[in-house]
Amino acid sequence: MIDDITSGPLYQNTISTLEAAGRVINLNRNVQERLKRPRRALIVSIPVKMDSGKVHVFTGYRVQHNQTLGPFKGGLRYHPHVDLSEVGALAALMTFKCSLLNLPLGGAKGGVQVDPNTLSKSELEALTRRFTSELGPFIGPDKDIPAPDVGTDSQTMAWMLDTFSLESGFSQTGVVTGKPVEIGGSQGRESATGLGVIYIAQRALETKQKKLSEATIAVQGFGKVGMHAAIEGYALGSRVVAVSDVSGALYNERGLKIPDLVRYVKENKVVKGFPEAQTISNEELLGLDVDILAPCALDGVINEKNCEKIKARVIVEGANGPTTAAANKYLSEKGCLVVPDILANGGGVVVSYFEWVQDLVWLFWNEEEVRAKLREVMFRSFDKVWDFSMKNNVDMRLSAMASSLKRLEKAMMLRGQAW
Ligand code: NAD
Repeated sequence: MIDDITSGPLYQNTISTLEAAGRVINLNRNVQERLKRPRRALIVSIPVKMDSGKVHVFTGYRVQHNQTLGPFKGGLRYHPHVDLSEVGALAALMTFKCSLLNLPLGGAKGGVQVDPNTLSKSELEALTRRFTSELGPFIGPDKDIPAPDVGTDSQTMAWMLDTFSLESGFSQTGVVTGKPVEIGGSQGRESATGLGVIYIAQRALETKQKKLSEATIAVQGFGKVGMHAAIEGYALGSRVVAVSDVSGALYNERGLKIPDLVRYVKENKVVKGFPEAQTISNEELLGLDVDILAPCALDGVINEKNCEKIKARVIVEGANGPTTAAANKYLSEKGCLVVPDILANGGGVVVSYFEWVQDLVWLFWNEEEVRAKLREVMFRSFDKVWDFSMKNNVDMRLSAMASSLKRLEKAMMLRGQAW
């Protein structure tokens, strides 16, 4: 039932924001009703012959929310807590993100309920190839283009590309993004989401007359998003005073040496035990007195229980849904600038779009071109959301959603999808 998808907490949170932003722009009721629900959802069984010889059947999902603006686009998550409603909410957020960033793409998301750390490489490959086969009729460069997310990476995309191409009879590099550059990936894709977080942080600080090079940053999560946010922030002269991952958090008032920490994590897998820092908890990291707090791990981490302890001047949401609606309201009223996920972590899908374009025309750009184009899109999108927010006296989350809805509404009306 579609209601099973829309009833989860993250989906309900998204619907509340959609309705509130809809009121700000007097959104057409029929457009609103259509956008509250996904277009279609697929649930598949994925049998995998494990190394032990036993067959384990995993459950996989793909939710396609809306394709008014172009092919469906969205990541694939491998995590034990993946469920249909969470995937649905993330699919809806992709629709709003792509619209806001002015990309010709719709929104989708997928996932498999699995802890990838418990599988061997060959089991992961078998899982990914079978999942791709099951998704086969619904994905493709003109239909739906997956990308990495939590628990998946460029290797996952390489297996997907290979399976889809084998079944099509010819190489279809445009079927996924976030793949290795050797097989049609884009320069700069790996760092794109983290770099986008930092470009947004820079613009947000400017509204407070502060420079990035004078700012302190705390980053929760040291994965694909958080690690690159820390690397880019450090490279641009900020003091990255704290980072964390599932093993705990590190703090150094003078600033962490991020290149050393990256080397340490490559060897030790986690940040725990890095010598040049003090150990703190993830909760303490969230409450640090910093200019920028970048939650880049999980959803719901800034909530009604801890929002009163948050001291950051700006929150840049690297993760999807890290701030609950109640916490967002409290913090925005207190003067903290909360830059919402659909804007703040949009760098990944922007460079995924660049990758897809490069694959379609078989012409590839260098990293400087990618970074310059990404910067332009992120700055332009921030300015659009900021201006709307100032003009209409609404917070950045409502402003981002309202700006996104305006474009979607126009497109849906023109296409005769709402009356
Ligand atoms: P990832 O799996 O590469 O990294 C996740 C990080 O969070 C890891 O360092 C992990 O140790 C840490 N973590 C897990 N549990 C934690 C906890 N309880 N406390 C602190 N840290 C914890 O995932 P990712 O791709 O970096 O994605 C992170 C978030 O960003 C997700 O919400 C994802 O949807 C979102 N996102 C990712 C991309 C992308 O391009 N990868 C793009 C947009 C949004």
